[in-house]
Amino acid sequence: MDAGLVEQRYNTVEGSRPFQWGDAPNTGPRLFFADIHADPLLALRDIGVDAPMAREPVGHTDILRLRQGGVGLQVFGVPTNKTWCKDNEDCGEHPNMISALAISALWPPETWFDYEALALHQAHRLANLAADPDNKLVLVRDRPTLDEFCERKLKDPEVIGGLLGLEGAQALTHGAESIGVLRKSGFVLLGLVHFFDNAYGSSQHEGKEHKRGLTDAGEAVIVEAARRGMIIDLAHASKELIRAVIDLRVEGSFPIVVSHTGINPAPDDDACSPARNLKVEDAHLIANTGGLIGPGLWDDALCPIIEEGTAPQDVDDTYARRFADRVDFMIKKEFDARFIALGSDFDGYEQFGFDATGLPLLAPALAERDVPKDAIKVIAGLHVLRFLMDNLPGSAAPSPGPCDHLYDTLARAP
Ligand SMILES: [Zn+2]
Repeated sequence: MDAGLVEQRYNTVEGSRPFQWGDAPNTGPRLFFADIHADPLLALRDIGVDAPMAREPVGHTDILRLRQGGVGLQVFGVPTNKTWCKDNEDCGEHPNMISALAISALWPPETWFDYEALALHQAHRLANLAADPDNKLVLVRDRPTLDEFCERKLKDPEVIGGLLGLEGAQALTHGAESIGVLRKSGFVLLGLVHFFDNAYGSSQHEGKEHKRGLTDAGEAVIVEAARRGMIIDLAHASKELIRAVIDLRVEGSFPIVVSHTGINPAPDDDACSPARNLKVEDAHLIANTGGLIGPGLWDDALCPIIEEGTAPQDVDDTYARRFADRVDFMIKKEFDARFIALGSDFDGYEQFGFDATGLPLLAPALAERDVPKDAIKVIAGLHVLRFLMDNLPGSAAPSPGPCDHLYDTLARAP
């Protein structure tokens, strides 16, 4: 299997007006973006800034393209299982395409059939990227390293802060004990499930009604993760799991995000990928905890919201506008802009209208939908910075510290 071919086939850019590297808009003030989910650590190409750029770029992100798109903070998703299966519904655990990728790329043999080793290998890739000073990448794992990122970002706008997010607790081979191993490797976000029910919780991709969203082992894992200051990610979670985790949160506080999702504009609309798109009521439950919801940029997450009476030819199908429609819909449903973040899912084997260099397209699209300028900044990334300042473990630099300065500088920028 040729890794480049796999990416060309599955990590596509095919909007009605495709937009890629080379088309980067250089006009207008630059926004600070914080993307709370993308999967380039799974890409088998070199994603460092010095990687030889192909004439026809593959995939959606690498350090250079993140920089060009204005990404200041990036959560690197770490998936360990994706089955070869149509539509990702009721697919179970095998055959695992990520195992096949690991084998074809000759990743260390221990990663081939072991989820935890696969996760640690991807963490190691990010650590290697951060070790190369040319990448200007700061590994953010707690509050002191967030301060380090802020301090460097104030001096050099090209600096990116990278965080690790596990996608699916099946990688916790030793249950709550594995949390310590992951935390030591820099993981900050813990996603409980991915495409199938695991020992800890139930997935939205398994169509059956779940009696229990969260198992006892899942509860133990969350308690240990919370003790270590991790953020719980409910992307891909069944509605039962979402509710169980929110109930558990009442007893002890831990931050929650849904790192990449769609928001279903019509709960009964089967045409709009109901399984992958969060229901408005569930999204409200998460926002009420102060948590972030990350609407994504892939095709299925952006089902068109067609207002009654709109002629088909007037439905704008460009991806940036579809994203802006989604945000506009959330604001109309009374979501505070602070709880709306960007969760692109770039390089997550989905179809996109643009790669990371196209992120600046979102600002004019949001402005066209009358999203106020301050709210655009907040949604693009400003509030994610605040959320991390408030929630990452460890003590902050004496106040006002570098992150307070960075926040104020970005908030004041034109
Ligand atoms: Zn995902």
